Formats: sequence, structure tokens, C-alpha cells
Amino acid sequence: MSRRIPPVVLKFGGASLADPARIAAEIRSAGEDGSPVVAVVSAREGVTDLLAAAVAHPRAETAHRRLLVRLRELHPRLPTDGRRHLDRLGPLLAAVERSGRPDAALRDQVLSQGERIAVHWLSARLSEIGIPAVPIEADLLGLVTDNAYGASCILFDRSRAPVRRGLARLLDRGQVPVVTGYFGRSLEGRVATLGRGGSDYAASGLGALLGARRVELVKRHVAVLSADPRDVPGARPIPELSYEEAEELAQFGARVLHPLTIEPARAHGITLRVRSLEDPTVVTTIAPARAGRRNRAMTVLRPLRLLRLRVPGGRQRPGIVAEVSHRLAQAGVNVVQLYTSSALLCLVFAPDEVLAALRALAPITQEAAAMVDGPYRVALVTAIGDGILDDLDRLPSAAVNGAEGFSATPRALSLAVPEERAIPVVRALHRSLVERRRS
Ligand code: ASP
Ligand code: MG
Repeated sequence: MSRRIPPVVLKFGGASLADPARIAAEIRSAGEDGSPVVAVVSAREGVTDLLAAAVAHPRAETAHRRLLVRLRELHPRLPTDGRRHLDRLGPLLAAVERSGRPDAALRDQVLSQGERIAVHWLSARLSEIGIPAVPIEADLLGLVTDNAYGASCILFDRSRAPVRRGLARLLDRGQVPVVTGYFGRSLEGRVATLGRGGSDYAASGLGALLGARRVELVKRHVAVLSADPRDVPGARPIPELSYEEAEELAQFGARVLHPLTIEPARAHGITLRVRSLEDPTVVTTIAPARAGRRNRAMTVLRPLRLLRLRVPGGRQRPGIVAEVSHRLAQAGVNVVQLYTSSALLCLVFAPDEVLAALRALAPITQEAAAMVDGPYRVALVTAIGDGILDDLDRLPSAAVNGAEGFSATPRALSLAVPEERAIPVVRALHRSLVERRRS
């Protein structure tokens, strides 16, 4: 980019859009030191859920009409371009109704309308209060993704030139681009969403493409806590996380961040900040690891199912783990977690994948005389933090007793426990690794 000062990227979640004056104040304060500001926004709160429901129920025509009314209410005084997107939803929903079963690309096209309408609406509100906002739709800008509709990944090499060129033009003029989060344009030239919650990922991706000074994820109510406060009343905010810790947290089910958000920032050394609009003291900075820092956070993934595969001769059978993985992969089954000992392989799946997993494993039970038992209802309770293995001696027996499996890396230690034990276990872990910690 031609500008010398690297921009700051501010991402506003759907709930924060309710207060455009507040967003204007955030943009002004981020730009106070002369930094150009790029805003990335989600659809207004609840809109993506409504759009997803419309696609999931192609024949609910009355509900589709109601959806259009609701979107109009949520975006009063919508400028012409925004209104055009709202009007386009009519024919798009008609296509959904006709298809009976919309394909993934049509689904993504419908889902993307929430963010499109939002950027036009918000830019108009910001302009009224003196912010030179310009609505930008990421697919038209040239944010290129792969063709995995519904869960696509940003293709950085292809996106870099168009994104930098397109945004530099505006930043050079002192304007504030207000860019859609959540989606880009696939290699086939269609709209591709990045998965639910994907605006965080879009923001960190844009930050990486622009060489941003920092990326701030501004949320209305949420913060990064040491556990989900609904599960653990003593959960507390975490002021700093390493990229690696944040990535494990996101992957192990802390819903506050989209799982792909961290990688682009890590790869480019860009500081990520997660902030709560409601409480300015709650900020989590995600940056390179620092020696001597000790963060501990807990997550619970559930509901899950565990299958135990007993293989006679176990480890003496070369390739047995590979064969199991291969058969599951061929059946499109994703293994959430895998525990092995000599003759026992424990596999953890999402509940709706168990049948396919059993089918995929059936030939092994015949050829290798293996035996499968389960499925057992389990939850995965994970403790995350750099150097977590130093805490092995602090694990309370209440957490470990009756566990179905255990796995650990220097950064994440996870237990498969019977589902009804998930809450007592996460609380016991939290007590000994966070609340009672002195060193
Ligand atoms: N609007 C999308 C969703 O609700 C993307 C996002 O909010 O990050 O999933
Ligand atoms: Mg949203």
C-alpha cells in the first residue's frame, strides 16, 4: 500500500451494530494517532440465524415473507444500494423455495445478504455523524476463498493484490472502508461463507493482507474468559494469550472466536485484541508467547460419543491406526479426538457421525477380529495454557476419576469424561488450576 502508516482493523459483531454512535466513537479513537481505520462488520444480531432458518426450511414461504419484513425493520432508512440487496433476497428466497433443497453455494449467497445489507446501512448511519464511511462487499473487493461453501478458507496469495489496491485507494483519501465480514468470492466466482462466526476470521485475514498494526475484535457482550461462565461461576477474564493458546481455545470449543481467526494474525505477527463494548476493562490481547506467563483456561465440548475399538495384538499390527483413520476419512467422518494404548483405540465423534463411523469400522472388525463397544456419551474437558504439562501434579482426582481417555500436548490437556460429569470436572479443574493457583 502506498500509505506509510499501517491501518488498524476494527471488527464489530452483530450485537454492537445496534449503536452506530458508539461505533463512530471507536473509529475516531482508533484513528486519533493518525492510523487509517478499516471497519469489518457482521450482520445485525440474529439476521444470519434468520437467513439460515429460511434456507433450512425451503417451503416455509410465509416465514420467508416475514423475514423480509423483519430485515426492513432492522435497517431503517436503508440507502438505495442496501435496499437493492434487500430486494434481491426476494428472488433468492424464491430460488430456495423452487429448489426444495438449496445447494451449498445458493445457501451461502442467501447467508451473505445479511452482511451486505449491514455495511450499506451502517455506512449511511456513520456518514450522518461525520465518518467518511464507504461500504465494501468483500467478494467484489477481491477477497478470494476456496470452494468449500459454508466453511471456506481465505486464499491469501490471490487476495493480497486486489484487497490492498482496493482499500488503499480509499484509505489514501482518508475514507473509512466498512467491509463485510463472513464471506468472500470462491475460485469459481461464487459467494462463499467462512463458516458461522466467520467475521472474526475475515477481520484477521484482512489485517494480515493489509499488514495492519493491530486487529481489534469488538464484541458487545462477550469476552475471553478462563471458562464459560454458565458452566463455571468463578470464570475470570484473561488479559493476555499467546497465539497458540488462543488457537487451542478456539479449536476446543470456546465459542468466542472462530477457529481460523488466529492463524493469519500469527503468521504476520499482528496483535489481536478482543474487547467487550459493555465493559472497557475487559480486553484480551493475543500476541507472541511470553516467558513466565501462566494462563489457564478450560473448555467443554459436548455432546460427543466415544467408541472403543479393541484390536487383538494391538501395536503388533503395523498400520492399524492408519487403517482406522483411512476408513473414517473415506467415509467423511471427522475424529474429534483419538486415544490409544496397546490394544485399545478410543475414538471420539460428534453424535451424528457415530452411525457412519460404525459402518466404516465394520470391515476392520471382520478382518482384524477387532471389537467395537460403545457409543458412550462423553464430553471433552480441556485445560489450555502454555506449559500445561507442568500442572499434571495439580490435577484433582475428582477430574481424572472415571475418565474415558486422556491426551496432552505442552499446551492442551484434555479428558474425555462421561457426559454427566462434564460440569463437576470442569469446575474441579478450574478450582485447582485457576482459582487456587498461587504460582
Ligand atoms: N453473521 C455471521 C454469523 O452470525 C458471521 C459473524 O457474525 O461473524 O455467523
Ligand atoms: Mg452474527
